[in-house]
Parts: sequence; C-alpha cells; structure tokens
Amino acid sequence: MPALVPLTMAGDDRNIFGELSGISVDSMVSCGKNKFRENILFTHKGLSGPAILQISSYRKEGEAISIDLLPEKNLFELLSENNKSKIELTNFISNYFPKRFAEVFCDKYFLSKPLNQYSQKQLLNISDTFHNWKVKPSGTEGFDKAEVTLGGVDTNELSSKTMESKKVKGLYFIGEVVDVTGWLGGYNFQWAWASGFAAGKAV
Ligand SMILES: Cc1cc2nc3c(=O)[nH]c(=O)nc-3n(C[C@H](O)[C@H](O)[C@H](O)COP(=O)(O)OP(=O)(O)OC[C@H]3O[C@@H](n4cnc5c(N)ncnc54)[C@H](O)[C@@H]3O)c2cc1C
Repeated sequence: MPALVPLTMAGDDRNIFGELSGISVDSMVSCGKNKFRENILFTHKGLSGPAILQISSYRKEGEAISIDLLPEKNLFELLSENNKSKIELTNFISNYFPKRFAEVFCDKYFLSKPLNQYSQKQLLNISDTFHNWKVKPSGTEGFDKAEVTLGGVDTNELSSKTMESKKVKGLYFIGEVVDVTGWLGGYNFQWAWASGFAAGKAV
C-alpha cells in the first residue's frame, strides 16, 4: 500500500480544499491512537504536509482523521473571554489563522456574526469544530506520490544479521521491499542503507 502519501477528498469537500490550496496550518492530526503534531497543507486534491503524510501510514481505508487546528490554544476560553465583544467571528478567528483560511472555514461551518450574539453552547460548538475537525478522505494520491510502501517481505522470514531469507539460501532482501516503514525524517533511507550494508557484508 502507498504510505507517507497525500490524502484526497471527493465531492463538495474537494472544492473547499481547492479554495484553500497552498495554505498550511500547524496542527495535531490523529487517527486512532496515533497522533502527529506538524503542519498540514491544503492541496487542490485534498490534504498533504508532514502531519498528513505521517498519519497516512496508519490510516486504514475509509477511516476518518481528526485534526486539532489550534493545538496550542483553548479556543473556547478565548471565545468566552471575548463574549461581550462586537468583533465578527471570522475576524476574531483571523487572529489565529491565515485570513483566507478563516474566511473559507467559517463560511463553511458557521454563520459569522458578532461574538456577543453567540450563546455559550454555540461558542463551545465552534471551538469543538476547530479542535476536533473530522475529515473523511476518499483515498490517497497513490504510488505516484507516495514516499514509501507499506507492507512487503515479512521480517520474521529474514535473518536480522544478514537479511538472508530463512527459506532460500543465498536470497537476500533489503530496503523498501521489506515490511519496514519509517516515519518521515530519513528513517527510510537509513533502513535501506543499513540493511544493504548488512547484506553486503554477508555476500
Ligand atoms: C518522492 C520521495 C521522497 C522520499 N523522501 C525520503 C526522505 O526524505 N527520507 C527518507 O528516508 N526516505 C525518503 N523516501 C523513501 C526512500 O527513497 C526509499 O525508502 C529508499 O530509496 C528505498 O531504497 P531501496 O534501495 O530499497 O529502493 P529504491 O531506491 O526504490 O531502489 C530500487 C532500484 O531498483 C531498480 N529496479 C527496479 N526494478 C528493477 C529490475 N527489474 N531490474 C533492475 N533494477 C530494477 C529501480 O530502478 C531502483 O533504482 C522518499 C521516496 C520518494 C518516492
């Protein structure tokens, strides 16, 4: 399976992502127990950026991901502290995000009005949408754009010292073809070189 790969969106969602194309937002992206705190990048097809590439290695087909768009802050507290203010929601949100993102995102999810016109429940709902934004990708950009492959030759079938097959003497597997998938950050090169070095010493 392709991994470390951008995710795609379908239908109406794709249009929204297209409008935001090129914008990146520092986020915490999670899927099940796995979480990555890095940038996400909106693309014409969906989502990319380091946090998305990382989570793509864990996300199963059809699974939604959750994105905290403001991981360092408590938006409900910020909104509540300003609940007497006449500032429009979109303008307030623009303090924390690129202006175009604030406009498109607020337009999609909320009716923007002065902060003093929202109930506490509505402010909580707004905060939840930013801190726990659920996105259901339609798929990935596939092997054309993937940096690595998930799956491959089972490591249990290889000698960890020489990378030689336990079943077929003289047959070695190294690098990408083995079922070893690293995070972003050079781990896949490291694995390819280290396993190649081990096999090279043995043959
Ligand atoms: C766009 C991109 C960015 C990446 N960025 C990073 C990064 O920043 N850090 C990182 O750690 N990893 C990164 N990777 C992953 C990394 O490149 C791979 O994990 C690593 O190159 C795997 O090494 P390998 O030697 O096992 O396989 P490969 O590098 O794929 O080498 C396999 C070689 O075999 C050749 N070959 C295939 N079939 C045949 C055949 N039948 N006969 C002869 N030759 C054949 C291919 O042409 C190729 O040269 C990236 C990958 C991509 C695609």
